[in-house]
Amino acid sequence: MVETLLMTCPVKLVVFSDLDGTLLDHETYRWDAAQPALDRLRSLQIPVVLASSKTAAEITRLQNDMGLESYPAIVENGSGVIGLPGGTTTGTYAALRRSLEAMPQDLRSLYRGFGDMSANDVAAITGLPPDAAQRARQRDFSEPGIWSGSAAELETFKQALAERGITAQRGGRFLTLSFGKTKADAMDRIIEVLQPEATLALGDAPNDRAMLEKADHGVIVANPHSAPMPDLPGEGDGRITRTVESGPTGWNAAVIAFLNRPATTGRHSHG
Ligand SMILES: [Mg+2]
Repeated sequence: MVETLLMTCPVKLVVFSDLDGTLLDHETYRWDAAQPALDRLRSLQIPVVLASSKTAAEITRLQNDMGLESYPAIVENGSGVIGLPGGTTTGTYAALRRSLEAMPQDLRSLYRGFGDMSANDVAAITGLPPDAAQRARQRDFSEPGIWSGSAAELETFKQALAERGITAQRGGRFLTLSFGKTKADAMDRIIEVLQPEATLALGDAPNDRAMLEKADHGVIVANPHSAPMPDLPGEGDGRITRTVESGPTGWNAAVIAFLNRPATTGRHSHG
């Protein structure tokens, strides 16, 4: 599959996309509203790289359902890459859980990770069917969870995590803990292999920020269910734009508009 990609290099454009609240509807997890744009990208042979906090087991399933299985994907918020030679590194999930268990109990008790939940709990919280919830629990690198403390307690928790080398990233629904890799770190590895002339990234939440800022063009997909993305510097010069509609409907409109815009220059470097 990678061989196929390399034969078509240099690719003109690579699209990096978050899933939940971006290409997938926040509540129904459907993406059919984005099918016209996905079809258009496929006919243009433009790779779509899914980039999510989801696990390899979950993303592989979605790639197959979407017809994107020949492309790499970014899993667990950038901690791993699948579909590239030597893509995945040794998992760090067990070490992450051990560090979590060693935290002060008053903070620890305010965080409930997937590892503290049964598949049924994960199904109830996410709305996923039980088999999909089970795939969501097959983690290699990172721990999503629900924070039930105050904002001030969260800062203390993050500080205690940082002392253990752990970062916490806020997605649309979860606070996800990992040993510090972001979606943008994983983008670098994929860009190095595919050598695209330009990159387009789409995301809805603060954990997409680094990815949106790294891409040549970024799209913030509206998500009325989560806290709004703060203003990003790239919005001033139009390099980063926002959709009006949410989820896959906004995704579809943004990608079609991007493909229809007049020819532009290739990649440029940022800061
Ligand atoms: Mg999201």
